[in-house]
Amino acid sequence: MKKRVIILGATGSIGRSALDVVAANPGRFELVGLSTHSNTKALEAVLSKYQSAVGAFTGPGLAPAGIAFSGSGAALELLDAVEADIVVNGISGAAGLSPSFKAVSMGRDLALANKETVVMAGPLVMAAAALKNARLLPVDSEHSAIFQLLAAQGAEKVEELVLTASGGPFRAWPVEKLARVDAAQALAHPTWKMGGKITIDSATLANKGLEVIEAVRLFGFPPEKVRVLVHPQSLVHSLVRLLDGSLYAQISEPDMRLPIHNALFWPDCLPSPFGRLELAGRTMSFEEPDRQAFPMLDLAYSAIRSGAAYPIAYNAADEVAVAEFRAGRIGFMAIAELTRRVLAADWSAEPVSIGAVLEADGAARRIATDVAKELAA
Ligand code: NDP
Ligand code: MG
Repeated sequence: MKKRVIILGATGSIGRSALDVVAANPGRFELVGLSTHSNTKALEAVLSKYQSAVGAFTGPGLAPAGIAFSGSGAALELLDAVEADIVVNGISGAAGLSPSFKAVSMGRDLALANKETVVMAGPLVMAAAALKNARLLPVDSEHSAIFQLLAAQGAEKVEELVLTASGGPFRAWPVEKLARVDAAQALAHPTWKMGGKITIDSATLANKGLEVIEAVRLFGFPPEKVRVLVHPQSLVHSLVRLLDGSLYAQISEPDMRLPIHNALFWPDCLPSPFGRLELAGRTMSFEEPDRQAFPMLDLAYSAIRSGAAYPIAYNAADEVAVAEFRAGRIGFMAIAELTRRVLAADWSAEPVSIGAVLEADGAARRIATDVAKELAA
């Protein structure tokens, strides 16, 4: 029987890659539903190709004619109405949290690209998934790599996790030069083609910061056992170090269709047309991240060490800061300064429900918006 797949955020970078994986395996997957937020043309194009799929339009704009669900709750309504085996969550930002929670609470496997889900509410979402025997399958390439390495080696043999980072477009740049970069420069990623928010996050290392938090929560390793290593070629997607000291790596071309393929087929390993790497002639190098030039990395470690709502505040502050930077209102280095000031507030109350998580998120955004005004360039 075909696996019935819902793709949330189908018009984005992850969403389009997920559509490619479904299209490459017509005998194995059936697209039964999809959501988009603003891109009506792409929604119509996908629905005309997959005529039995149900569409949801989550944005404030006018939904195209014939779309089953529209408005801010449309993705949740889609999940309620359409039977599926697995949900791919490729929504960007905090908006991805509620659909993730809903999907696992309904017992559906979740192929999760939306890292904000785990950063904001990892313990709640994982508990809900466990209660319903739903699988949480990481799509973020580093976490997909570690997920497979842990399964192959046995988690009890693994001493530490090593997340690789490309280092972004400003690797090895001095702080003085970083202070002057603009959004267009930050949007030019050297190895990955991704959505705007995550691309800026790769330039500040906030993306790696979010991924450290994601790894701590997904895999249950303490922050000091999750290391970050800069690897500019983005061929090694992460590593695990075993107790005997040896390192094991997952290596492929940087192509998100491979981790999506892995999540959709999990636990099977099947032939994939994506990501196959020929090593001959390729060079791989590794270096320590520059923690002074990219303070977002250590701010993430501090947020996950403090726990409670600190990771929520980190994520919210960064989302506000990146929007302000893209609008040209604050400078590149102000992204970290804004986040630092938001984290200085008290986030020690442990959120015990998704509602409480969203409240903390809202509170952090309000503080972040005020701080942004103080920092305005
Ligand atoms: P994109 O910006 O390319 O796509 C975002 C998708 O989410 C679009 O379909 C967009 O719809 C939809 N969307 C935007 N805002 C909302 C909202 N408020 N409510 C519901 N849907 C919304 O992002 P990416 O694909 O790059 O990233 C998606 C997620 O995956 C992020 O969490 C990112 O961190 C993570 N990720 C991405 C990787 C990548 O390679 N791109 C790698 C690893 C993780 P529309 O286009 O119609 O506006
Ligand atoms: Mg990643």
